[in-house]
Amino acid sequence: MPILTSRTVAVRIARAPWRRICQQRTSTTVSLLINDQHWWFSKPISSHNRRFTSSTASSSSSTSSASLPAQEPFEYEVDHLVIGAGVVGLAVAERLASRGGSTLLVDKNPLVGQETSSRNSEVIHAGLYYPPDSLKTKLCIRGNELMYDYCEKFNIEHRQTTKWVVGQSEADIEYLEDLSKKAHKLLLPTKRMPGPPTWMITKEQMLIEEPHVRGKAALVSARTGIVDVHGLMHVLEAQIVEHGGDVVLQCEVTGMERIYTSTRKAGMDGQGEMAGGFKVKMNSPAGPVVIKAATVINSAGLHADKVYNLLKNPSGTPNSSSSNQAGSCPLSPFKLHYCKGHYYGYSGKTMVSRLIYPVPDKTLVGLGTHLTLDLAGRMRFGPDVLYVDSLDDYSVDPSTVGSPASLEVVAKVVGTFLPDVKASSLYADYAGIRPKLAAPGEEFRDFIIHHHSGFVNLAGIESPGLTSSLAIAEYVEKLLY
Ligand SMILES: Cc1cc2nc3c(=O)[nH]c(=O)nc-3n(C[C@H](O)[C@H](O)[C@H](O)COP(=O)(O)OP(=O)(O)OC[C@H]3O[C@@H](n4cnc5c(N)ncnc54)[C@H](O)[C@@H]3O)c2cc1C
Repeated sequence: MPILTSRTVAVRIARAPWRRICQQRTSTTVSLLINDQHWWFSKPISSHNRRFTSSTASSSSSTSSASLPAQEPFEYEVDHLVIGAGVVGLAVAERLASRGGSTLLVDKNPLVGQETSSRNSEVIHAGLYYPPDSLKTKLCIRGNELMYDYCEKFNIEHRQTTKWVVGQSEADIEYLEDLSKKAHKLLLPTKRMPGPPTWMITKEQMLIEEPHVRGKAALVSARTGIVDVHGLMHVLEAQIVEHGGDVVLQCEVTGMERIYTSTRKAGMDGQGEMAGGFKVKMNSPAGPVVIKAATVINSAGLHADKVYNLLKNPSGTPNSSSSNQAGSCPLSPFKLHYCKGHYYGYSGKTMVSRLIYPVPDKTLVGLGTHLTLDLAGRMRFGPDVLYVDSLDDYSVDPSTVGSPASLEVVAKVVGTFLPDVKASSLYADYAGIRPKLAAPGEEFRDFIIHHHSGFVNLAGIESPGLTSSLAIAEYVEKLLY
């Protein structure tokens, strides 16, 4: 087992490529050479050593976790372990790191945000579509507010483009009017405004503002915008480090179990024993590592069900199986379904100045193939909806998805609201995969955010997860403290 001491650790600063779909960035990382193997961290070793002490040095640790009783010597101890460095895990880790205590964010990939967080529409949603009492509505509205403030504060590229949801039939108009009424009843969490501002505009008004867009009427969503999600993740990662937290990449969590002490105290959890954190096994490039975490946040995106199933005794009752046996424990197994969405780029000229959406399917499986703009002002269309078996097949096959016949179909769908779109200017671009709780054909499912005795599950964090990320972080902090 690698143990960090001054004799076994050599440090070298490296510039690692910060990959993204449209643009290259760089991120400063530190590689620790431990027994001839590299561990990757995003901060200098001096700061790292303050947080993670070797088992031989743990008595001198100044972190709060050092006082927790351990049943065996652990190589590292941490107050908050966040599993998964997508935008949600990054936001949660940043929030927890900012309140003090030690925070460790791990990801199995070599860079942060390589899965769903870098394969989406980058839209800051307003929270219009979902049931008023759902977490999706509440966290999206709060997240929208936090996101604009955060982008302003840290100079992250974003634009409040506004959006139209365009109706083509009387039934569509009725749906949009109901949506607008519902939005007016919602309250912004800070109560600075009555709700996500929306209003209807007529066909004639539409033609004046967007001459290429066709429809009977449209709902305007004033708080919708776009954000550079890679810029956001870059800042979150830097802020975690700034607050004294650690980001460790190429580090996969492979096992978890609750730790118990035999000391009887008030607030006992389980059969006369006190829950005292978690023993977490990980595979790093340096080999297997076991750490002790006082709290664990499962933010593993498409893998969240598998990560939850790694926890041996979720209910907190010693010797219980992975099924939830304690009635009061909200944690329970869940299954994720993978729902792929393809995007299409457009090589022709940009025809609109805002985001244009059709009326969505009533199950809200997706929001309909819509038109978004990137920060360079280019149009893109998508995502479509295709349930798949694989959680990591992001391929966009030019002979099927990108074939002339497919592009004709996309042009026809988009043509209902943008008739001037040309199939010959469309090209298959990239794909993302939604971690869905709803199986094909099932009704709307909300985010699952459950906490029990220091373990937090974040499940089914599909759209509007990016918009909600900072609000999810705030919510998780309130669950834990
Ligand atoms: C097609 C599409 C379009 C979307 N459009 C929007 C939009 O416009 N606006 C919006 O608000 N939301 C949108 N979303 C939703 C948004 O992208 C997601 O909700 C968000 O990115 C989820 O972030 P995450 O951190 O939960 O998951 P992820 O980004 O998937 O991160 C999870 C991380 O966990 C890591 N991990 C998994 N297992 C382990 C393990 N055992 N050990 C260590 N690490 C592990 C993975 O490597 C991964 O990096 C869209 C989603 C899709 C698919």
